[in-house]
Amino acid sequence: MIRQPAVFIGHGSPMNALESNRFTNCWRELVAMRPVPRAIVAVSAHWYINATAVTAMEKPRTIHDFYGFPDELFAFEYPCPGSRAIAQEVVDALAPAWVGSDTDSWGIDHGTWSVLTHMFPAADVPVLQLSIDATKSFADHVGIGAGLSRLQDEGILVLGSGNVVHNLGRLAWDRPDDGYDWARSFDDAARAIMTGDPSSITNLVSHDAFSLAVPTPDHFIPLLYIAGAAVASGRSASTLVEGCSMGSLSMTSYFVD
Ligand code: ZN
Repeated sequence: MIRQPAVFIGHGSPMNALESNRFTNCWRELVAMRPVPRAIVAVSAHWYINATAVTAMEKPRTIHDFYGFPDELFAFEYPCPGSRAIAQEVVDALAPAWVGSDTDSWGIDHGTWSVLTHMFPAADVPVLQLSIDATKSFADHVGIGAGLSRLQDEGILVLGSGNVVHNLGRLAWDRPDDGYDWARSFDDAARAIMTGDPSSITNLVSHDAFSLAVPTPDHFIPLLYIAGAAVASGRSASTLVEGCSMGSLSMTSYFVD
């Protein structure tokens, strides 16, 4: 079995699903030259509940979990298969931690499909989502990410989809390709840790800009899973693409081979 990478993608606006830009081009290029994974396990910022659960359905539905976007985005379908058998592999990889099996509540949300439509446009690789348990600590999420890294050796790509800096209340429409100083400072600090010593990722909570960059934890936590995968494999992460957009979003993305 050929080992697959763990990847963190800064997904930004749902419109990235329909657009082609320097970020989406890098997402495509990352997987274009590698063998196709057996499956993908995705930790999306948009499945944030009070438990750890994995989607365990053969045909997960496409979820349109946003408002105020064009009809074309609501009509978007990502008809990838799921897999109950691989869901069991995820449960086993994380044992003895408890992981629930979700057979009907979730599916594939836009944090996942807006990225995978670029990486795997044919939607022919099984995709499972793992929820973020809002009751767990940042260190716990790093630990779960470390557990998921076992799946990389089984030919499964681990995807974290969020944004290192994500403050929708501070969006600057006049800065489409730039970030505020505090956003760039926080993004730089995260990059130094991810590419240096990912085991110290939770130190970011003491950064001066933490509360501005991470006003809610949902988009930040998927990064912790990829930091955990890096720690488990004894490697640091590589930067796939970097940069801020709209002032208060970081699109910076990483991978761990
Ligand atoms: Zn999002």
